[in-house]
Amino acid sequence: MHTAPLSPVRVPVGDAAGLILSADIYAQNDIPAFNQSSMDGYAFSYNDWDSKNKLIIQGEIPAGITEDIPLVSQQAIRIFTGGAVPAGADTVVMQEKIKVENNYLVIDDQRLKKGDNVRIRGAEIKKGTLALEKDSFLSPAAIGFLAGTGIADVEVYPTPSVAIISTGKELQQPGKSLTRGQVYESNSFTLKASLEQLNIRDVKIMWVDDKPELLQQVLADSLQNSDMILLTGGVSVGDYDFVLQAATQCGVEKIFHRIKQKPGKPLYFGKKQNQTVFGLPGNPASVLTCFYEYVLPAIGNMKACKPHLLQIKNVELFHGYKKPPGLTHFLKGVYSNEKVKTLDAQESYRMSSFSKANCLICLDEEKQEWKAGDKVEIHLLPF
Ligand code: AMP
Ligand code: MG
Repeated sequence: MHTAPLSPVRVPVGDAAGLILSADIYAQNDIPAFNQSSMDGYAFSYNDWDSKNKLIIQGEIPAGITEDIPLVSQQAIRIFTGGAVPAGADTVVMQEKIKVENNYLVIDDQRLKKGDNVRIRGAEIKKGTLALEKDSFLSPAAIGFLAGTGIADVEVYPTPSVAIISTGKELQQPGKSLTRGQVYESNSFTLKASLEQLNIRDVKIMWVDDKPELLQQVLADSLQNSDMILLTGGVSVGDYDFVLQAATQCGVEKIFHRIKQKPGKPLYFGKKQNQTVFGLPGNPASVLTCFYEYVLPAIGNMKACKPHLLQIKNVELFHGYKKPPGLTHFLKGVYSNEKVKTLDAQESYRMSSFSKANCLICLDEEKQEWKAGDKVEIHLLPF
C-alpha cells in the first residue's frame, strides 16, 4: 500500500461530515440531561393516581424552564414536550387522554403505565461512556448525535489538499472562442467536481504550457503546498510530454508508469514522502476512469475510509462485446434491473457516454469475446 491516513486534526463537529474519527469519543454529559417529557400533557406521580387519588393541577412547565420545583403529592403539573419532569413526578399522560374538571385532572388512559412518556436522564447515553469509536464514519446522523451530546469538535483524519495541474499548450478556457488547434480545458473541471463529491475543497487549479522548466517549477511549488498532485496530459512518450521528467527532477519516486488498460494506459504514479503524484493521461475519459480506479482509492486511504467504487460481480451483459487481448478495458455502462448495457462513444476523448453512465464495466485483460448474458464485473459510479 503506497498511501496511508494523513495525520489527524481537530475540527469543529459541523465541519466533519464524511470524515473518519481518529479517536474514540466519550459522552461529556448524560443525555437527556434531566428526566424529560416526550409529550404535551400532565406530569404526576403514578402511585398517587393508581390509588384513585384526585390530582389537582398546579402550574406548568414548557421546554427550557430551568426552575426545579418538586411536585407536591396529589398534584399534577401541565408539561410540554421537552419539559423537565419535576422531582415527585414519574409519569406523563398525553393531553389527548385527559379531561380537566374543576381544575382536577381526570385521566382516561387504560394503558398508561408508570414511567410512560418520560425520557429518563442518561437514557440515550451516560456521561463517560463511549459515544462513537475510533474509525467511525461521520454520517449526518453521527454528526447530529455528537452535537446532541454537546461535543463541539472532533479528531478526524483530514481530506487531502489537492493541486490539479492541467498541461497542454492547446488548452483554452470554456466560454472563450477556439482558434484552430485548440481544445477546451475540461479535465480540471472534471477533477474538481469529482473532488467536491468527496468533500475535498482545498483544491488549487493550474494550467501549464508544454514547457519543461515551467512544469517543473509549478510541480515543485505544488509539492510545497498539497498532499496530492493530479497532473493531466503530457504523461505519454510524445516530444511534448514532460510530466515524468518534471516529477523525477522534483524528487518524486516513480512507483509505476503505464498500465495494461484502456483507457488510461499512460498513467503515472509517484511519491515524495507522504505526498502522492498522479500523472493522469490527457484524454478526458481516461482522466475520469483513472480518477475512479486509482485516485479515489488513494484518497480513501488518506481519509482512512472505504477506498473504492462499489464493485458488483456477475452482472449480466445486455449485448455481446469484442475486444483484442492484452489490456483490461473499462467501458462506460448503464446498470439497471441487474443487467448492464455498454454505451456508444467509448473512445478516450469522448465524455458524452461517460456523462450518461452509472458504472464502469471491467473486461478482463486476456479475454476477447463476451456474448449477451455473459457475466461481468461492474464498478458503480458515485452520484
Ligand atoms: P496529451 O497526453 O497531453 O498528449 O493529451 C492527450 C489528449 O488530451 C490531447 O488531445 C489533449 O488535447 C487532450 N487534453 C489534454 N489535457 C486536456 C485538458 N485539460 N482538457 C481537455 N483535453 C485535454
Ligand atoms: Mg499534452
